[in-house]
Amino acid sequence: MTDATAATDADRELMREQAARLHLDVPDQVRAEILADALGSAPDERPPTRTGDDRGHRADDDHNALLAVYDEPRVESGHGTLVGITVALKDNLAVADLEMTCGSGAYSVVPSFDATVVERLLEEGAGVVGKANMEPFAMGPTGEFSDFGHVENPLNAALVAGGSSSGSGAAVAAGTVDVALGTDTGGSVRIPAACCGIVGVKPSHTLVPRYGFVDFAPSLDTIGPLARDVETAATVLEAIAGPDRRDPTTSSAREAGTLTDGLDDADGLRVGLPSTPFSRATDAAAGAVRAVATRLEAVGVEVVDVPLDLAEMETAYLTVGSAEFVWLLEQDGVVRGHGSGYNEELRAAFRAARERGLGEHVARRILPPAFLDARSAGRTYARARREGIAFEERLDETFSRVDALVMPTLRDRVPAVGETTTRADFLPIIGNTAPFNIAGTPAVTLPVTERSGVPVSAQVVAPRFEDSVALRVARALERVATSTA
Ligand code: GLN
Repeated sequence: MTDATAATDADRELMREQAARLHLDVPDQVRAEILADALGSAPDERPPTRTGDDRGHRADDDHNALLAVYDEPRVESGHGTLVGITVALKDNLAVADLEMTCGSGAYSVVPSFDATVVERLLEEGAGVVGKANMEPFAMGPTGEFSDFGHVENPLNAALVAGGSSSGSGAAVAAGTVDVALGTDTGGSVRIPAACCGIVGVKPSHTLVPRYGFVDFAPSLDTIGPLARDVETAATVLEAIAGPDRRDPTTSSAREAGTLTDGLDDADGLRVGLPSTPFSRATDAAAGAVRAVATRLEAVGVEVVDVPLDLAEMETAYLTVGSAEFVWLLEQDGVVRGHGSGYNEELRAAFRAARERGLGEHVARRILPPAFLDARSAGRTYARARREGIAFEERLDETFSRVDALVMPTLRDRVPAVGETTTRADFLPIIGNTAPFNIAGTPAVTLPVTERSGVPVSAQVVAPRFEDSVALRVARALERVATSTA
């Protein structure tokens, strides 16, 4: 028998490296004592093993929206608010016995467990169909880059489905499922919803637990529903929101309360049309959203113009998001501090993916900001964060005058397939969405009109944890848009 506490040469070398890297140099004898101390307190760390060989089968759907699916929708309860509703989960959310890929050929795990959000959907009676295709590691706004193939927009194959929750958007728009969960770090629920002409909700940051999710940028990441109407989206959000001990960040979140009661009552609310989200949009997008927003007066909502400078929040987002992802790579996929939870199956899969290499798409996306951050010893990250704080202060000031904001979700029309290649193409797509990940506020997108068959969507933003207000205004817009369209 070998003594588990006896130091090997590799242990001695690792301790020497750690000490040197952290500038904690001590005499050799002291380091040997510290190493013995460490080994004496090491927990038993056997890697997780899986029994059973279920992994689902690859779906065969017309739009390449789904990946691994069960043979039959998995239903665990006959009671609850979601009975009869079918759901798909973006492939960075763990669903037991279905292979998870994060849209990347480098990542693969078949979790033995369900993400908290999946457990909650099942408890409310939903039927889980399977996993939805996505951009690799949730990076990319168009849905063209999954290692498992391009996701087609069911409305019009010449348009992108939007990303990164591209399969979630396409599966709901096509009617393959009633609802999907996506994840939104810079716009990835709202952008595919806007491209596919459906409703998408990015909840307040930390309202919805992320245990069982593969983090991208923990200070920005959220999980939210895509559905064909606001009421269904609100019902799903109500089911998945609220504290979970396994995700320490949600401990500070409130109980969600009810998001569906009073949904139809927007009477007396004040809505602001913020200046730069309109002025930076095309005249067509700005004009269409303004016209529908003005009709809110008919349901008792006051509509006013308000100043709000988004500044270059999309650039700040790229810096923050990429730096946090790089940090996760460096940290073997563990957020030390407040992250989304500590599941060993997902952590080990993340580490293995890193060792295989995440590929050119991810490299092009994260290395430029990571390089600038490293070259400045973290100053670019700190500056982006300070810019974010200044933005939140401007937003607070705006919210002292109005209950919610309405603006175009996309600054321009839905992009055509193949036209988004450079950073300059990419930034405007996230220009109106990413700022609200920085601010952590709720943001709901819904289609309000169309131009030549292409949906035009509005985004409703409310103060953090006022998700019910954002949903009420979205529901009011849905009513006025459909009543006079
Ligand atoms: N598409 C954006 C990006 O690539 C947003 C990503 C996201 O929200 N996951 O950064």
